[in-house]
Amino acid sequence: ARRCDFFTAAQGLDHLPPPEGIEVALAGRSNVGKSSLMNALTGQNSLARVSVTPGRTKQLNFFRVEESPLTLVDMPGYGYAKASKAVKEDWQGLMFDFLRGRPNLRRVLLLMDARVETKASDTAVMDLLDRAAVAFQLVITKADGVKPGALARRQAEVEALARKHPAGHPLVVTTSSETGAGIEELRAELAALVA
Ligand code: GDP
Repeated sequence: ARRCDFFTAAQGLDHLPPPEGIEVALAGRSNVGKSSLMNALTGQNSLARVSVTPGRTKQLNFFRVEESPLTLVDMPGYGYAKASKAVKEDWQGLMFDFLRGRPNLRRVLLLMDARVETKASDTAVMDLLDRAAVAFQLVITKADGVKPGALARRQAEVEALARKHPAGHPLVVTTSSETGAGIEELRAELAALVA
């Protein structure tokens, strides 16, 4: 696994690092397993810890992958049940502006928990990505957490969502940060983006 360096954190869009190299952003509902996936992808244990610091929920964290033009962008989790409507709209506005204005953003990996049904906030983010015309790829997390039959049904459901959205990439990658399933496949997807 390629190591990663914490590069910079941006609180608002005025303080983004210069758009150098190629960026892939990771997004998903709070608790979807985003930090764990970033750590699994990069082979590091505590990489994305910063993103779970309370009160920093609107922060974008940039992780530069060593010896590669790739930077991973950790987007703040969404869909937190207790968040007010204003906070939710804030997230949408900030993310839309980031997605629209980031010339080197190649793809968003949108994480979907194998154990949780698709929520309205997930489809709202897919709509947002369609409108921003940013290609996204759906990645199922926590595949180890469900039985094979339930996983197959969840995969079919998520694949149908990808097909339904113009910006959706047809290939859904199923992963587990616990067992390492799908991690090599996802790394290969990222490698192909920077090749
Ligand atoms: P984040 O809030 O999206 O960054 O999610 P975290 O990576 O912090 O994970 C949220 C919870 O899900 C934690 O309790 C993790 O231990 C658990 N989790 C994350 N990935 C997996 C996985 O692949 N399998 C299982 N079974 N649990 C996971």
